[in-house]
Amino acid sequence: MNRISHYINGKVVPGQSGRTAPVYNPATGAQASEVDLASVEEVDAAVQVALEAFAAWRKSSLSRRSEILFRFRDLLDHNRSELAAILTSEHGKVRADAMGEIARGLENVEFACGAPHLLKGGYSEQVATEVDVHSIRQPLGVVAGITPFNFPAMVPMWMFATAIACGNTFILKPSEKDPSSSMFIADLLKDAGLPDGVFNVVHGDAVSVDRILEHPDVKAVSFVGSTPIARHVYERGTAHGKRVQALGGAKNHMVVLPDADVAAAADAAVSAAYGSAGERCMAVSVVVAVGDVADELVGAIAERIPKIVIGPGDDPASEMGPLITKVHRDSVAAHVTSAEEEGATLVVDGRQTTFDGDGFFLGISLVDHVTPDMGIYQTEVFGPVLAVVRADTYDQAVTLVNENAYGNGTAIFTRDGGAARRFQFEAEAGMVGVNVPIPVPVAYYSFGGWKASLFGDTHMYGPDGIHFYTRTKVVTSRWPDPTTSSVDLGFPQTR
Ligand code: NAD
Repeated sequence: MNRISHYINGKVVPGQSGRTAPVYNPATGAQASEVDLASVEEVDAAVQVALEAFAAWRKSSLSRRSEILFRFRDLLDHNRSELAAILTSEHGKVRADAMGEIARGLENVEFACGAPHLLKGGYSEQVATEVDVHSIRQPLGVVAGITPFNFPAMVPMWMFATAIACGNTFILKPSEKDPSSSMFIADLLKDAGLPDGVFNVVHGDAVSVDRILEHPDVKAVSFVGSTPIARHVYERGTAHGKRVQALGGAKNHMVVLPDADVAAAADAAVSAAYGSAGERCMAVSVVVAVGDVADELVGAIAERIPKIVIGPGDDPASEMGPLITKVHRDSVAAHVTSAEEEGATLVVDGRQTTFDGDGFFLGISLVDHVTPDMGIYQTEVFGPVLAVVRADTYDQAVTLVNENAYGNGTAIFTRDGGAARRFQFEAEAGMVGVNVPIPVPVAYYSFGGWKASLFGDTHMYGPDGIHFYTRTKVVTSRWPDPTTSSVDLGFPQTR
């Protein structure tokens, strides 16, 4: 059995806790590896290594940090294919999704390569006689990232690229469900010349997460995952005096107005709802069909569903792969069952699709006439299930978006610029798309939701990332004019 161990101080370190978790190939259902789960002592050892590495790393020049990140960027670029294969084998996503994930992660690395520019401070000359003030940004120390299963390469890159560029050292605690890509990344960082101890990987579960949240030498924690765990991470981490940014779950609504291009909206809904088997935090999970667009839109979405090829992610023909685990697959199917029991209309029933073998596959579902009191509306299903809620007016649609507990992303489809502008003003969500179903910000903006989709006040990567991983210091200095000095410094005396 392949064993996945920790990566500390530039080398693979076998776990000592005696605890492991299984890692599956979701396309076959077979266990492929086992991953070590760290004990409190193993987390402490990794933090100590990162703390010792910090002393030198924070003194490294900006150009050296940038040069290492540029080299890492090139290595990542050259190894896209191998990393994509790792993503597919443990997560199950199809090749195109895996390559897309790497491309979006690369953008964050490219942003971090610009650290010398991004870390510039400010300067005010002569705030009083012979007094100047300047501000500088300094790293925090050891910082940690705790990441979810659904983007095992990209989400770590949201975090560590900026954190390291700012002069911090990093502990990554990836999802135990698909841990191998973090090891591949660790190797590339070492090959790029990153000093040992600056980037470390500790595999684990709640034991290691809780130790990270309590460890006095961990200064900041970035988390991405489900809302209950995000809340826990935020509360426990801040109670221990740390900076915490904790991104949670989502229930993203796509509002379609009666004037929308129905074909374009249906294409967008299908790719945003069922892409990556719906296991994206920016997946569209609710379409709000306004007025008389509903029947035509539901028909257009239903018509497209049978054309989606479901199969193993490493088959070039596949457009949608399996879900992450059997338990999760069964829970998604149970949401479809309860929606039907609660009176929704199953336009397409994914539970009826059959598959050969033991992979964690589930067919695609389209559920119409969903109402806000139904379980399928209130829960983050995180699978290939799209709910349609019918609204009579634009106002009703916006109320649905705004009354939903989550506020990650939302989108509007319309030909009316005024309606789109009003939606962008009124929607209570951190990321808004106009005729764009998955409005993930480019790397030089920042990513984050509102309400139950974010605990903390700082979004991830981009300018907010620089802000999160540094603390500012303001220096006020007085330097008397040397020509007035009582000591002869060689300047001509004027007074
Ligand atoms: P998860 O919350 O189960 O796990 C996330 C991380 O927390 C993992 O590293 C896991 O090991 C750890 N963890 C799990 N249970 C824990 C516990 N009891 N105590 C401490 N740590 C624990 O999430 P997941 O299933 O891996 O990922 C899917 C979720 O992530 C979805 O809810 C999705 O919306 C969300 N997500 C959000 C974003 C975003 O940007 N807002 C992005 C990607 C995924």
